[in-house]
Amino acid sequence: MSLFSAVEMAPRDPILGLNEAFNADTRPNKVNLGVGVYYNEEGRVPLLRAVAEAEKARLAAQAPRGYLPIDGIAAYDSLVQKLIFGEDSPLLAEGRVVTTQALGGTGALKVGADFLKRLLPDATVAISDPSWENHRALFESAGFPVKNYRYYAAASHGIDLPGLLEDLNALQPRSIVVLHACCHNPTGVDLDLADWEQVLEVIKARGHVPFLDIAYQGFGDSLEDDAAAVRLFADAGLPFLVSSSFSKSFSLYGERVGALSLVTDSREEATRVLSQVKRVIRTNYSNPPTHGATVVASVLSSPELRTLWEQELGEMRSRIQKMRLAMVEQLRTKGAVQEFGFVSAQRGMFSYSGLTTEQVDRLRTDFGVYAIGTGRICVAALNQHNLDHVTDAIVEVIK
Ligand code: PMP
Repeated sequence: MSLFSAVEMAPRDPILGLNEAFNADTRPNKVNLGVGVYYNEEGRVPLLRAVAEAEKARLAAQAPRGYLPIDGIAAYDSLVQKLIFGEDSPLLAEGRVVTTQALGGTGALKVGADFLKRLLPDATVAISDPSWENHRALFESAGFPVKNYRYYAAASHGIDLPGLLEDLNALQPRSIVVLHACCHNPTGVDLDLADWEQVLEVIKARGHVPFLDIAYQGFGDSLEDDAAAVRLFADAGLPFLVSSSFSKSFSLYGERVGALSLVTDSREEATRVLSQVKRVIRTNYSNPPTHGATVVASVLSSPELRTLWEQELGEMRSRIQKMRLAMVEQLRTKGAVQEFGFVSAQRGMFSYSGLTTEQVDRLRTDFGVYAIGTGRICVAALNQHNLDHVTDAIVEVIK
């Protein structure tokens, strides 16, 4: 008998399944809005010019590929900290933040989760309802029970703030609370600063441990504004964790470039924390890969490339915003029986469109427009060529 004969088939990943069905679809006007990446006007994942420039220089330098330190490239870690916490952050000046290069935002979350499991073995993790689909699985695989806190209010397309605060209050003290710092995935609906302040108050009162996930910095309003929640928590003087990612903001998805930051009480505490986080990394993958973080570090540290990158990031952000407005406008002019104005107020790559599972099914079968069953659409996959077909299809399926 084979060692593996009793292994059961794992449930199919719903998004990968959707992609397979999309690839097999022969209709020429098919559109995939189920994806989680930014596409440019030509429907392709862009290679940013700032990235291409940095890669050219890296290739020319013919640098050897030795192992990196366990916590990654020191210059990269320091540049990440400044981007997230701000150039003038007192926490950075005091040496209280530990940052380690990670394999994307996912890798940062997993290293953070594994480290927290050692510190708080009996804690519960709370994630938003709904949340990025990997949050639950990831914290469960680190050994935590995972609960939802109320977040999205379908009727108003907004936040259920009283429900959110009530649920955070009801968690056992010292629970781990995972929060989307900006551009909430999948809803596109964010807390405003006044909401964040109330969330912070409950977290402080209950002694919870916040784990801020910032995977879309620069896709909301600006690099600085999108970090407002992180900065608010930094000012509050409590310990917390941040997972960050350059997958989207540098369009470097496959290079796995992210970071885990931990805010500690003192420089001395930071040194001890780093030593333990390094053990978690060492026993998982030893040390991170060189390419992506080298590219990001050279872009962020070169004034010219950094300006170019910020400009390209701004172009991605405003193209998505333009698509939001154009979609709302077209649905209005085409006489859609529902109002979609809320889509233009959502932020980041996604929109909870309010479309039902049945409507999403009809979009796919009748029109070749692929979206997630929850009604999540990737606005960053819309462009001038496919928007007309998508809005025609939506108008039909909501009749
Ligand atoms: N957190 C959230 C909220 C995300 O949406 C994603 C990616 N879609 C990640 C983390 C993971 O990012 P990465 O691809 O860098 O692992």
